[in-house]
Amino acid sequence: MALMNHVYLNGQYLPLSEARVPVLDRGFIFGDGVYEVIPVYSRQPFRLREHLQRLQHSLDAIRLANPHSLAEWSALVQPIIAQAEDEDQGIYLQVTRGPAPRDQAFPEGVTPTVFIMAMPLPAPSPETIEHGVAAITAVDDRWQHCDIKSTSLLANVLLRQRSVDAGCAETILLRDGYLTEGSASNIFIVHDGVLLAPPKSHLILPGVTYDVVIELADQLGLPTSIRPIPEQELRSADEIWLTSSTKEVTAVTHLDGQAIGAGTPGPVYRQLHAAYQAYKHHTMRGHGR
Ligand code: PMP
Repeated sequence: MALMNHVYLNGQYLPLSEARVPVLDRGFIFGDGVYEVIPVYSRQPFRLREHLQRLQHSLDAIRLANPHSLAEWSALVQPIIAQAEDEDQGIYLQVTRGPAPRDQAFPEGVTPTVFIMAMPLPAPSPETIEHGVAAITAVDDRWQHCDIKSTSLLANVLLRQRSVDAGCAETILLRDGYLTEGSASNIFIVHDGVLLAPPKSHLILPGVTYDVVIELADQLGLPTSIRPIPEQELRSADEIWLTSSTKEVTAVTHLDGQAIGAGTPGPVYRQLHAAYQAYKHHTMRGHGR
């Protein structure tokens, strides 16, 4: 295919190795940009509209005009989806405030940098689904605008690396004694058959998968409660799950070395995981939104 493994950069489709951004780009200098990761299954984007709406929220929050309409974004990602190596992929898109002489203040009349690429999207392995993963906790020392999907991810990078160093899959964050989210995921817990999650606020990223999980839980008739979760409730949970576009719904079976519930993915997880897979297949057949 002519466009095999091309990326999109500022109006052009070109090979990744040829894509260049000026070193004074504010994304490079300040992390002054926002991004999205959109899962694609069988070349069908999963909840594209919701991801593009969240992109708009992030752009509004950093006071950067959206360079494209929803329809334009949908059209721009199509060739990337069509020519990617795999049927399933993650579409990464990023908008920065563009190249300008180094100064914190917003530059005048600068064109934002727009970048889109396809990334591999390996589904959670059968082993992960069967046994779950281990996580550690850490104090959430990020800034107060975690609802913005910003490319300024240094705090998340450092927090995530702590779990890598501990041989774990995620770092679950606690702020002032309450659960916020994971370093790269949202967190749900099950307590006495009730599915609990922290409410959306400036302290967590409003996950697209988070919304899907709550919708599926409602459809399954699972009791849910969206409210602040104290640390003790997290540690004594019957089940803990992490959710994200790349990890889908994954059971956390050990936290800081302690077993959660029986130390295996619980019954509510299994129910929700099955519903999530069914929903994914619905998307693959072209019925997604
Ligand atoms: N919180 C953080 C900090 C994340 O990085 C992610 C993954 N992008 C999520 C939550 C989950 O969001 P989504 O379900 O939209 O992938």
